[in-house]
Formats: sequence, C-alpha cells, structure tokens
Amino acid sequence: MIHTDTIAATATGMNTAGIGIIRISGDDSFSVVKRIFRTSGKKPVDTLESHKVYYGYIYDEETLIDEVLLIPMKAPRSYTREDTVEIDCHGGILVMNRILETVLKNGARAADPGEFTKRAFLNGRIDLSEAEAVMELISSKNEYAMRNSLKQLTGSLREELNACREQILYETAFIESALDDPEHYDLTGYPEKLQVTVEALIQRLQVLIDSHKDGQIISEGIKTVILGKPNVGKSSFMNMLLGRERAIVTEIAGTTRDSLTEQISVNGISLQVIDTAGIHDTNDPVESIGVARSKSAADEADLILMVIDASVPLDDSDLSVFEMIKDRKALILLNKTDLSLIVKEEEIRKYTDHEILQISAKEGIGMDAFKDYIRKEFINGFLSYNDEIFITDQRQYQLLTNAVNSLKEVLKSINDQMPEDFYSIDLVNAYDDLSGIVGERVGDDVIDEIFSKFCTGK
Ligand code: GDP
Repeated sequence: MIHTDTIAATATGMNTAGIGIIRISGDDSFSVVKRIFRTSGKKPVDTLESHKVYYGYIYDEETLIDEVLLIPMKAPRSYTREDTVEIDCHGGILVMNRILETVLKNGARAADPGEFTKRAFLNGRIDLSEAEAVMELISSKNEYAMRNSLKQLTGSLREELNACREQILYETAFIESALDDPEHYDLTGYPEKLQVTVEALIQRLQVLIDSHKDGQIISEGIKTVILGKPNVGKSSFMNMLLGRERAIVTEIAGTTRDSLTEQISVNGISLQVIDTAGIHDTNDPVESIGVARSKSAADEADLILMVIDASVPLDDSDLSVFEMIKDRKALILLNKTDLSLIVKEEEIRKYTDHEILQISAKEGIGMDAFKDYIRKEFINGFLSYNDEIFITDQRQYQLLTNAVNSLKEVLKSINDQMPEDFYSIDLVNAYDDLSGIVGERVGDDVIDEIFSKFCTGK
C-alpha cells in the first residue's frame, strides 16, 4: 500500500436533497474527523470503531455546523482500501460546502475528479476495466447500459481477458524456454499447434470487438435521424415521440432550419433522435447548411426514419431521400394517413424494400407499431443476453483491435515459416494490449486521463 495524503469531497450531487454525503479517504481521515465531530453529549470521540454508525454533530471550532451520522471504515475494508470516513449530513448545498470546508481546514485536501476510484485502482481493489465500468454505471442512460456496466464491474471482462492472457503467456514462455534450452524442449510441430491456439484466441477476442457496435447503442442510444422533404410531418412525428410540443410545427415548408436532438426512451433503450431540416434543393444559404447537415447526420445514423406525406403524390424530393436510404437501416413512416391516401404502400415498394408503417403524427396513431419495430430490430438480442459482455469503451475497443492485429501477425509469421522468436515479439505485443485494458502496464498519463473524466467525489 502506497502512503497517501487524505482527500475529501462531496460524494452526492450538489443540489438540495434530504441527505448529502461527504467522503474522506487517506491515512489521516480518522484524525481529521475526530477534530470536528462531537457526540450527542457534545463530547469529542477518542476512538472510532470501524463499520459502526456514530450519531453526533460537526463543529467548526466552536460553531455548530450540522447534525450528522458518521461511518468510519478502517483500511482495507473500504472503497479505496484506505481509512475512509463518510459523513451523512443534511443535503443543502450550503451545509455540504460548510462541512467540506471544515474537513479541508482540518487536514484533508480537496479530491481530484475520480480520485477515490483511482485509489481503489492503485490499491488493487479494482482493475482499470472495472474503474471504467464504475464511470459508465454512474452515467448510464438506460437499463441495458446499467446492466452491462454492472457486469463489467463484477469482473467479467477481466476474467475473459485474463484467460486469454494466460494462454499467450504460456506460449511465450514455452518459446523462450525452447530457444534457451533446445536440448529439453522440442519445437518440431510447434508452429502448427500455436496456429490453432492463436486462431482460437483471435476468434475469442473478435467476439468482444464485434460487441462494440451494440455496446455503443447500449451506452449512447440508437442514433436516429428523421428525414423527409419539408412539410411531411417530421417535427410532428418528433413531438409525437416526445409526447410534447418540442419542435416548431408550421405549415410553411422549410421552417425546421436547424437540427434538433432529443433523447427518447423506447422500451428501456434510448433513441438519440435528430430532426433534420427538410431534404430538398434550396437556394437559401441558411437552409442549405441545414440540408447538408441532415445529409451528414444521416451518414452517421444507426437508423433512419423517412417520413412521407401520404396525402400528396410522391415527387423528386422523396425520390432523392429514397436514394439516400438505400443500403441503410431505415423505416418508412407513411404519415398523414388520417387524410385521403394518395400515396399507397405499393407505390413506395417501387422505390424501397424498407419496412413501412402507416402513422398519423397529428392524431398520434402508430406509436405502438413504432415501439414494436424498435423492440424487434434493436432490443430482442440485448434482452436475451446472459453472459455476453458488450465493449462500450473506445479505449478498450482500440486495445482489443491492436491485440488481434498482433495475433494476426503471429499467424503471418507462422505462415511465412519465420523463426520462433518472431512469434514471441507479436505475442508479447498482444499480451501488453490486453494488459492495458485491465490497467497493468499502462502509463500514468493514461491513468490520469481516464480518471479525469470522472466526477469529483467518485
Ligand atoms: P416538417 O416540415 O416535416 O417538420 O412538418 P411539420 O411537422 O412541421 O408538419 C407540417 C404540417 O403538416 C403541419 O401543419 C402539421 O400540422 C401537418 N401534419 C403533420 N402530421 C400530420 C398528420 O399526421 N396528419 C395531418 N392531417 N396533418 C399533419
């Protein structure tokens, strides 16, 4: 255990709430607290027993600050594995600030963002993938993201990676020993055996890499773009999803000039919906920027919702949108079906194979069918997952990809009948990349960068 100074921060949100928690961690946390805490009999405490709850008051010298509960936790039985004290106080911003101030005045220093979790990592309580899971858990926007980060938090990714790392280590050690001591180790037939092992490893890691697309959808939501020519009812559909008046709905074509983004939860997964400016040819410079933006938003989307006005004949603008959604994941929303149906499904079929839903944004018809579509297309796979791990983090994804590339180099060396020491160079590289995910063999700069993304108090 490294000697550390004592840090403190408010662990709960800085808003008016029933209870707030100030957390103190480090070698001096018990003595800091003893200086400012008095029992209900207004007496200071000599000893603080671990994992007991103390009732009393916080004093700044002779000034009473708040009535609190105190929870001392002796190392290593705490989140950071250091001596830790939590002060449960009243939740007002002013009260929490005053207590924190008093704590700082009495020997602690203000914690950096993520410093508590960083200490948990440095003291070996959690690995880096688990620390990242903590951050994701805090920021999860939906149930699936929450479940996935909880799974990582309990070490499922680490276990999978360690299994792969052990195999790589075994092979590297074998090669090294054989090269050092050719009399006792025979390398005949070894490359063929190694090839089988490496291929299996690549397959195993590829499963994790492939989960990244779904992992992103889980953590960030389905990037959804609403496309269609002006006045077909894009803003109205957005409002129908939101259940309130958000986008400006007008009868003048081209009023939604800019794009609006909203988070909408459908069956527990979030949709990041962008309502774009109408796709059509325009000479108005402001509008043309909007049109360019909607085209680029559509390029990045996981799902495109194309809205068609069923009450007017299809025209060239609709046809250009059909062109844009070719080869993309898209759903056709045939809107204004409360009016006379000029555009029939058979006609749309001439231009696209995408699924068509008949809706009326104005009357609020079609919401259930839309939810069913999302469930069918995006959620069913996730809902049924049990032991699967989803890679949501870009850093982890990159390291996994590097590891697989190094392993592919091993296969190439085997194929090219290179000498054995060539295999071990790439095996070691793959090993290092996987170690980076759990936080072994990573530089301080990487660690600092990761923990700086945390909020203060975590
Ligand atoms: P946008 O330009 O595609 O965003 O279209 P808006 O949402 O602004 O709608 C244009 C016009 O169509 C407005 O007058 C809406 O009230 C009307 N509208 C939208 N959806 C429907 C619908 O389902 N039925 C009918 N009758 N009118 C609609």
